[in-house]
Amino acid sequence: MSKYLGRLGRRGFLRAADLLVPGVAGFPRFSETPWITQIDRVMDFMTPEDRSGFVVLMGVFAYLPRVLLRSLLTAPVRAGLVAQIQIGVKGAVYALAFSDLTADESVRAFLSYDTYCGEQPREKSRALLAPGLPARAMAEARRAAPVLRALSVHERLAHVARLRAVIVRHRESIIDEIVRVTGKSRGDALMSEVFPVLDHLDFLRRHGERGLKPQAVPTPIALLGKKSRVEFEPMGVVLSITPWNYPFYQMVVPATTALVCGNAVISKGSEVTPLEALIQKLCVEARLPGGWWTCVAGGGETAEALIDLRPDKIFFIGSTATGRKIMARASANLIPVELELGGKDSMIVFGDVDVRRTVAGALWGAVTNTGQSCTSVERLLVQESIYPEFRAELLARAATLECGQDYGRMTTLAQWRVVKSQVTAAVAEGARVLSPSILAWDEWEKDLRIPPIVIENVSGEAALWQEETFGPVIALAAFRDESEAVELANDTRYGLSASVWSKDLARARRVGSALRVGNVSVNNVMLTEANHALPFGGIGESGMGRYKGFYGFQAFSSVKAWIEEGASRKIEAHWYPYTDEKLRLFDGLTRGLFGSASGRLSLVRFARYGLAIEGLAARLWARNDKHTQ
Ligand code: NAD
Repeated sequence: MSKYLGRLGRRGFLRAADLLVPGVAGFPRFSETPWITQIDRVMDFMTPEDRSGFVVLMGVFAYLPRVLLRSLLTAPVRAGLVAQIQIGVKGAVYALAFSDLTADESVRAFLSYDTYCGEQPREKSRALLAPGLPARAMAEARRAAPVLRALSVHERLAHVARLRAVIVRHRESIIDEIVRVTGKSRGDALMSEVFPVLDHLDFLRRHGERGLKPQAVPTPIALLGKKSRVEFEPMGVVLSITPWNYPFYQMVVPATTALVCGNAVISKGSEVTPLEALIQKLCVEARLPGGWWTCVAGGGETAEALIDLRPDKIFFIGSTATGRKIMARASANLIPVELELGGKDSMIVFGDVDVRRTVAGALWGAVTNTGQSCTSVERLLVQESIYPEFRAELLARAATLECGQDYGRMTTLAQWRVVKSQVTAAVAEGARVLSPSILAWDEWEKDLRIPPIVIENVSGEAALWQEETFGPVIALAAFRDESEAVELANDTRYGLSASVWSKDLARARRVGSALRVGNVSVNNVMLTEANHALPFGGIGESGMGRYKGFYGFQAFSSVKAWIEEGASRKIEAHWYPYTDEKLRLFDGLTRGLFGSASGRLSLVRFARYGLAIEGLAARLWARNDKHTQ
């Protein structure tokens, strides 16, 4: 209870606070939270006069008609009494809503509102678990799931179309926000986040209904008279846990696919790049009903709490180490998981390529998003015959890329340190840095910069060769022939993607087939992801499952098998009773169908035995009828 505000004042304050913090889809409005319990901490700071004025004002607010209250609190005024009232009330409400209550209980996490405004990127240690938030999100999603299930795909797509229009309308401010939380360049934010999201939503619009339509499948002759099909049903509640490198894209793409499949979605994006508030605002503007897509802020412990609430599917993008933990935790409740994990991708360049174009592709593939892509080019394997020429062109071009314009800073200090430590260790083991001329780590650390680093002679055991680097570092190596290229590229626990470059398409296809990866681009780089009709996913320590294209519809659906026939009196040949004669006829039918006789003869035999067994089955059951009467 407040030492300043009585029952009436409390009521007035909550009425005002609800107008200012009305809640967005999936998130509470002010009065649904315990924030008012902290009101004295705000009022302690007021002068006695202000405090008594505030108490009187809240008493008036308790009775003021809502429409008047709203205009008093939201009217655009710059000065005068109304402006003072607005500042005073908003100050109290927002202080409670947007600041930490206690060290371990954050209002920010409830609201998913990022209060950070400094220059340095936030680190994972800032992760906060709002008590009760995961359970609340799950309860809302559980309530929404049957509603979504009952809608046709066409109706779900209409909702997603509104979201698409809202994203197009707000693309500039979305890019601003992506750049603010990640530090990436505007070009990367537009070309690798906003554009592909819209392209993906367009894919859903064009192909969603076809992709989720029941599919007829063949019915074998032994099941003559029946029809078989596969149907795609919603799974229920999908939990999507995603990382910081493409935070907008990674939150929107799986969530919207899952929605179109008829699931309610809970997204837990990365605590390092909080975009929950932005996405919830887009959802509100697109009029997505509450609970359909709830974005929950927080770190690993929030994700763990959500997993323990038993979603019907877990979709995860992130590191291999976290993927392991998620799979282990999900196994306790046998929740299906899909894991899109790290990579150590190779680009294989044969001697017959156009060097200028291939170097341009290599640089983009390695440096886009400052190398913080799961499918970045990390090993650049170039055939001996063009190695010197290729290397010279690569170094010349790498020097022309500009930080800020072409690529941004690293998103996190932790990842910046991983890159530094891998490069430093490789150099200590004999690797040669070809570009830039000096490694100015101290200088770069100030703004988390790393320019493109080209390095050669990296040992096969070095972390830089074996582990995911996730930074703008190109480990350059020469190969003699096809088989050595494949051997070098396959020398990894990962298996996400690769590219093969050659004029000889037959050779490029041969090499691509020999690579243990989930995605191959020929004469281009990181391009499979750009076609939303293609599946995406890895093998080995790069994960399991495929989540885009037509496979994406299956990833978020429960696939149901159907077989149907009309009502009849027929007794099936394989039902009871079994008799020696029935077994003999069945054996004849088996030989007829699968034996050496070809085509028509096999059909004739099948028909002969089939009719005989059916007749027998009917007679046997009729005989049983008599015994049972
Ligand atoms: P991360 O594994 O540290 O975190 C990813 C997400 O998992 C975050 O939301 C985080 O809060 C959550 N998380 C952390 N601990 C958890 C736990 N114990 N249980 C449940 N969830 C937990 O990854 P990151 O550093 O944010 O992202 C970089 C990684 O993501 C890289 O390895 C990169 O290769 C990978 N990635 C993969 C793909 C792909 O499609 N294969 C795409 C992009 C990024």
